Amino acid sequence: MPEFFNDYPLNKLNTFGLPVKAKYFTKPKTEEELIDSINRIKQMGLPMLVLGGGSNILFTRDYAGVVLQPSITGIEEIENTSDYIALSVGAGEVWDNLVEYAVQRGLGGIENLSNIPGSVGASPIQNIGAYGVEAKETILQVMGFNLETMSRVVWKNEECQFGYRDSIFKRELKGKVVITNVIYRLSKHPKFVTHYGNIEHELAKMGETTLINIRKAVINIRNSKLPDPNKLGNAGSFFKNPIVHMDLLHELKKRYDRVPSYPIDDKSVKIPAGWLIEQSGWKGKRLGNAGVHENQALVLVNHGGATGVEILNIAEQIRSSVQNRFNVMLEMEVNVV
Ligand SMILES: Cc1cc2nc3c(=O)[nH]c(=O)nc-3n(C[C@H](O)[C@H](O)[C@H](O)COP(=O)(O)OP(=O)(O)OC[C@H]3O[C@@H](n4cnc5c(N)ncnc54)[C@H](O)[C@@H]3O)c2cc1C
Repeated sequence: MPEFFNDYPLNKLNTFGLPVKAKYFTKPKTEEELIDSINRIKQMGLPMLVLGGGSNILFTRDYAGVVLQPSITGIEEIENTSDYIALSVGAGEVWDNLVEYAVQRGLGGIENLSNIPGSVGASPIQNIGAYGVEAKETILQVMGFNLETMSRVVWKNEECQFGYRDSIFKRELKGKVVITNVIYRLSKHPKFVTHYGNIEHELAKMGETTLINIRKAVINIRNSKLPDPNKLGNAGSFFKNPIVHMDLLHELKKRYDRVPSYPIDDKSVKIPAGWLIEQSGWKGKRLGNAGVHENQALVLVNHGGATGVEILNIAEQIRSSVQNRFNVMLEMEVNVV
């Protein structure tokens, strides 16, 4: 049975750096330890929160239950064909270590997702994505444990109901499962995706287009654009980019010279939430110790000493500003606890 720590500080386990505590904290390292921990939590009659790296979570108060951090590690090759390799990876592995491992082995599919903080176990939860690639493109299966039935479950890719920053784990199964392993299928003949953002521009400085160089390019771009949570607490994009009806885009084009948009289908387009927030006057704004990043309006930051409630408060104010100005209700990407 893994140890249960009492009054455990979570300030280093959430990238907003909020000084909250868990009534209990435990870190099972094997599936057996996980099952033992879950049984014990059930006996204690306390609520449970599964935590990965805490890079997509906003704590608004201390957690009055057990925070369980699945720490099952390991990268195991389970299939090797002439085209691909399937890897079963423990939920507790650091996501970016997996990307580095894949790139070093010449396996393609996740290189554009370099430098995304957090754990492997969380990668299917919101179907992490960046630079034209989403985790769902390489996830074969998600394996985990159903807390209600206390049974092992395997979700095939199509059963995960993946969408843009979305999956069944963020909706129907939220709080009901613990993911223990994820199986990825990585290609031996990767197709490079370089048309997004400044990747091509960065690559041009490096010479050849290789997995290693794409990874370097993505890391360089991300480091130049996104605040480092170790220096300025944040959880990356706070809101999802809204998908709106084409009519709204036509309306906006009458009012603004340039409205960035990405077509989804004949009737709908995605508009960057950061643009809507910036046009609503929030970029770089600060309310007490919480604020909106000066270069990335989509990123809310803890300037030091903010509480989760302060950050949530600024998020709510942004939502109502954007709603009043554009009649678009922003949806939070970050999980509020
Ligand atoms: C600087 C920065 C940049 C970012 N950039 C991106 C980006 O480009 N693209 C992107 O998609 N995201 C991005 N994110 C968000 C974040 O990194 C991802 O969502 C990541 O997958 C979260 O992983 P985590 O382990 O930290 O999850 P946590 O924050 O610990 O948890 C997130 C949610 O998943 C649940 N969860 C975690 N692990 C498990 C498990 N094993 N079983 C069941 N439930 C679980 C938690 O209960 C919670 O609801 C960024 C964040 C930061 C701070």
